[in-house]
Amino acid sequence: MRSDEVLIVIGAGHAGAELAVQAREAGWLGHIALVGDESALPYHRPPLSKAYLAGVTPLDTLALKARATYEKAGIELMLGRRVANVDRTAARVSFEDGQTMAYSRLAFATGGRPRPLPAAAAGADAADNFHYLRTLADVDRIRSRFVPGSRLAIVGGGYVGLEVAAVAVKQGLKVVVLEAASRVLARVTAPRVSSFYEQVHREAGVDVRTGVQVDGFELDRESRLVTRVHCSDGERVDCDLVIAGIGILPNTELAAASGLAVDDGILVDACSRTGDPSIVAAGDCTRYHSALYGRSIRLESVPNALEQSRCAAAALNGKERIHDSVPWFWSDQYDLKLKMVGLSQGHDRLLLRGSVEERSFSAFYLKGDRVLAVDTVNRVPEFMLAKRLVAERIVVDPDRLVDDAVPLKALLPAA
Ligand SMILES: Cc1cc2nc3c(=O)[nH]c(=O)nc-3n(C[C@H](O)[C@H](O)[C@H](O)COP(=O)(O)OP(=O)(O)OC[C@H]3O[C@@H](n4cnc5c(N)ncnc54)[C@H](O)[C@@H]3O)c2cc1C
Repeated sequence: MRSDEVLIVIGAGHAGAELAVQAREAGWLGHIALVGDESALPYHRPPLSKAYLAGVTPLDTLALKARATYEKAGIELMLGRRVANVDRTAARVSFEDGQTMAYSRLAFATGGRPRPLPAAAAGADAADNFHYLRTLADVDRIRSRFVPGSRLAIVGGGYVGLEVAAVAVKQGLKVVVLEAASRVLARVTAPRVSSFYEQVHREAGVDVRTGVQVDGFELDRESRLVTRVHCSDGERVDCDLVIAGIGILPNTELAAASGLAVDDGILVDACSRTGDPSIVAAGDCTRYHSALYGRSIRLESVPNALEQSRCAAAALNGKERIHDSVPWFWSDQYDLKLKMVGLSQGHDRLLLRGSVEERSFSAFYLKGDRVLAVDTVNRVPEFMLAKRLVAERIVVDPDRLVDDAVPLKALLPAA
């Protein structure tokens, strides 16, 4: 690597911050510019719907790395700046203010943005009390309306919606969750796990409604506030605050406009390389072929963003680091620590271990005698072993797997 080379990283989230620092660690000698359109120092996103929303994690603990870490690594932080165009022929990026900057290598770490709710497009999404939740700025606006007794309508019963519901109901808000599918967490868990979560939320006081399609909103033009949610079954839900959490769209437009291959994610190989030898990409904005699952996947998780960034940093320095780690994710709701490993699509059997009633169990998704994925609830030590079961494609004895008296460790081959 030459010291006169320039690496520009677009996007200063989990992936971008890690990529910049790791590129330096892996031997990049030239300039590194980390460009992000948010003004805050790159920060942890998961607490936004958990401890930060609840007010138990202060702002100053959210930073991914201290400012001094970037300074020490010689990384120029260009925050509050948005890249508007990438010209691959000229190897130059342009910012929204018209300024341009040449690069030798480029990294896309542009993440994702909330999927817009179609029913809100007629004007509700411009109301002062209608929110999506992706950024620190979003949460700060939401928190100012978190008043005990307020009526909160959450559209979408995925992780973010349910985490927000758990925080809100604990703070004394009256919470309704409106989920279009027949159960919450339908995209990611088995019906048994969904029904467990629905029950927990209902016991906590959340009004969970499934199979409900939101098809409009009533607005008070004077106050510019949404006052009611309209559901396709004729139900009307009065509200003081609406939060929509129906997934994300990957930010791929910039890459696509520059001519890179995109298909619901910037296409990268297992080393985070795009089709252009001078460009890598990492995080929520990418899609790659998983050798473990034999298909292309786009993941939305911190562990994936970090690992892909390390692979990208290696690639930028002419090294090869292959992303073959097994996907995992977590969600905190009430006193429940949900940790999931693997992807359950294609499973033919679900086995439970532990006790759902006692809120301590694991759900194993099997295909034949192999474990494709595991959801663990309040079983953190078991999660570590479950990770090995999935990653190493270990054949298990189902009878022993469901027997809580048999330590899970006993199902793993001796080291
Ligand atoms: C509320 C919430 C809770 C979550 N909880 C969990 C959890 O518990 N566990 C877990 O694993 N994951 C969780 N996630 C998902 C996790 O946060 C993401 O997978 C992770 O942030 C992905 O990192 P990223 O860097 O790829 O993208 P992002 O974090 O989205 O960062 C991308 C950055 O690039 C910026 N950007 C985009 N385009 C440009 C441009 N043209 N110019 C400049 N900047 C640009 C974006 O504004 C953003 O700041 C959660 C997400 C949210 C929103």
